[in-house]
Order: sequence, then structure tokens, then C-alpha cells
Amino acid sequence: MIRLVLALTVLGVPGNLTEHPVPTSIVVATTRGQLEVPVSTEMGHPALAVPQLSQLLPVTSEVSGDWVTIAFAQQPFRFLLGAAAFVYQGRVVPLVGGAYVSRDTVFVPLQWLTEYIPRMFSEGYRYDPHAGRFEESRLTPVVTQPRLNYRAPAPGSAAAREGFRMLHKVVVDAGHGGRKPGNLGKYLPRNVHEKHITLAIARRLEDELEKRGVSVVMTRTADVDVGLAERASMCRDECDVFVSIHVNSLDPRTGYENVAGFETYFLDDARTAEAARVAAMENEDLRYEGDVALDEDDPLSFIYKDLHSNEYLRQSAELADVVQGSGAAVHPGRDRGVSQARFAVLKAARRPAILVETGYATNRGDARFLSSATGQQKLAEAIADGVVKYLKRYEAKVMAGVEP
Ligand SMILES: [Zn+2]
Repeated sequence: MIRLVLALTVLGVPGNLTEHPVPTSIVVATTRGQLEVPVSTEMGHPALAVPQLSQLLPVTSEVSGDWVTIAFAQQPFRFLLGAAAFVYQGRVVPLVGGAYVSRDTVFVPLQWLTEYIPRMFSEGYRYDPHAGRFEESRLTPVVTQPRLNYRAPAPGSAAAREGFRMLHKVVVDAGHGGRKPGNLGKYLPRNVHEKHITLAIARRLEDELEKRGVSVVMTRTADVDVGLAERASMCRDECDVFVSIHVNSLDPRTGYENVAGFETYFLDDARTAEAARVAAMENEDLRYEGDVALDEDDPLSFIYKDLHSNEYLRQSAELADVVQGSGAAVHPGRDRGVSQARFAVLKAARRPAILVETGYATNRGDARFLSSATGQQKLAEAIADGVVKYLKRYEAKVMAGVEP
């Protein structure tokens, strides 16, 4: 990788920055305020001091040896110091000049901030080269209407026996499928991949939910490929919640085979590197999906960043919490808790949505549990119990006339 970066430095592929005169400073404008940031040209190309950008923007930097990792909204961009390029998600992107350290301060090329960041976070940022103004957009959060069209269960029906006062519908999503195997399943039986385990658990979850009087729509019932956006779009008006089933894995070369356990995610900015890693892995399927209107450079658009205050997010968090509690209780691995990450499959859902990582295929104990009928059944029952518990809490709030 180093050799490649250096080769690009020599080639010196210029960006279109040269079309505009280099400003002596730029204005960073956000909803939290605005700031004038001086442009340094001490190394021959325009650059900005990271500590100044960090005052208003989600930028951090960490120097390690010859490299500096500059993160924007938790997305890491790796710069080889002095090389006119950066590496993002394994791709080398050439620049007119690189990142450098001067007077104990990390400087990042102006071009990275003004050309690349607006391309990557197209909904979130834009740069006006004439005004020398880098602006954060004010975003319209997705507003999810609560379901209002409930009907009461028929007397004697499964829903009535379960104690439901309304009829509910859940979309169950068996992760991956068809030409998208998901993780290949290091310790799963031979020729069994994540997609097979997710379907087995999802089918049992369908049965368990129906036994409890909840109607279920499956995103797939066979080993077929369904687009991520299409899966989530199945949970709209008549749907109460969206549950996506997955199996986690770690790179076997990293020696993390002792990592095991059950974890539930709901959609948000990835809060930790681990959450971002899992989201990046589960979003891999997008690479195969030519039909999805997502910019290749923009796998993690900023559309959802204002959802913190959204009711929908709070409901997703509550759903994640109860499912995590019941799932972890039957799991042989660790209770890995609830996390937030930007899963593409959750983005199109307009109802509370969660993604369950049922265990690690790279751990022998988890893999044995996940590939056994007993393990799959325990997980399906536990997830169904969690969903039912959430739906009953939701009903109680609706019945009390409180916004759920
Ligand atoms: Zn998966």
C-alpha cells in the first residue's frame, strides 16, 4: 500500500482545486456557529489545522508512525505523511498535496475537506469555492408516523389469547441470500454460510411470532437475493417493526476467535469503531446491488444524523433493548449489549427497526449453537418474546393516549 501511495505522489494527479485561487482562509459554517480557519501554504499546497476544524466539525486526527488517521464523522481516512493521497476503505485517492505535521499540529489538505467530504457526505456538507465557505446542511429528519390503523383481534384468536388488544404485523428479514452469502462461517458446518443460518432462525421466528398472534411478512423464504432497500421497504404503513437477522464474524487473521455473544443494533451514526466495522460488513451487499440508488462514494450518507431526537429512534432503541435482553438470556456467549450503527438495510424502514447479530461464526461455541436446531429455536423464541414485550408496551402507551 505504501508503495502505491508513493507512486501516486510522483504522478501527482492534480484535482480541480487549481481552477480557483487559493483562499487565505475559509469560513466553516454549521448550525452550531461559524469560524474562520486560516489556510496554511507552508508545504506548498493549501492545508488546514485539524484542531481548528475540530472546534465545529466532527474531525479528529491520530498520528501513528508515518501515518495519520483523520476521521470525519467517525469515517477514517488514512494519510501517509507527506504523500499526496489518502486511503479510504482500501482505495487510494490522489490529492494535490498530503497531510503533514507541523509544530505538533496535524494539517489536512484543503482539497480533502472541500472536494472529497462534500462528495462523500453529499446530504450533509457543501463547499462554495467563490465564497470560500464550507457549510453544513440543515437536514430534514425522516418523520415516522405512528401506526393508527389498528384493528382489535378476533375473540379466541392467537392474538387475543396472547393478550394483545391490537393486531400487529412484523417484517422478519433473513440477512443476505442467493449470491450474497454473508459471512462464510469459519466454524459453521461445511458449506453453511451466514445466509443459511439467518434463514433458519428467521423461519423459526416467523413461526414463534405467529404462535403469539403476530402476523409476519418475510423478506425472503428461500436462498434468494433481495436488495437491502427492498427488504426495508416491506415495513411501511401496515408494519409495526422490522427485525433483521444476522451472524457476526471477525477476521480470522486477527485471532479474535474467543469473541462470542449476542448483540442488537439500531440505526444511527456508528458510535464506536466496532459498530462501524459491523455496519461496513453488513453493508457489503450494496456492492452487488447495481439497482440501488446509492452513491458508491457515499455509503453512509448523512440523512439520518438528525434522528437523535426522533421518536422513531427512541422506539427502535426500546425495541433493541428488550430483544437484546431476551436474546442474551438464552445465548451461550456474552451479552454484548445494544449498539447503534448505520445499516443500509435499516435506512429505508419507516418503523422501528433493529438488526440482530445472533452470534459469531468465528467462535466455535457460538457457531455450534447457531447451527444447531436447539440454538436456532431458543434464539427464535427469545427474539419473538422480545418483540411481543415491545409491542405490548407500545399498546399500553397507545391505550393510555400517550405518544408511543
Ligand atoms: Zn450479515
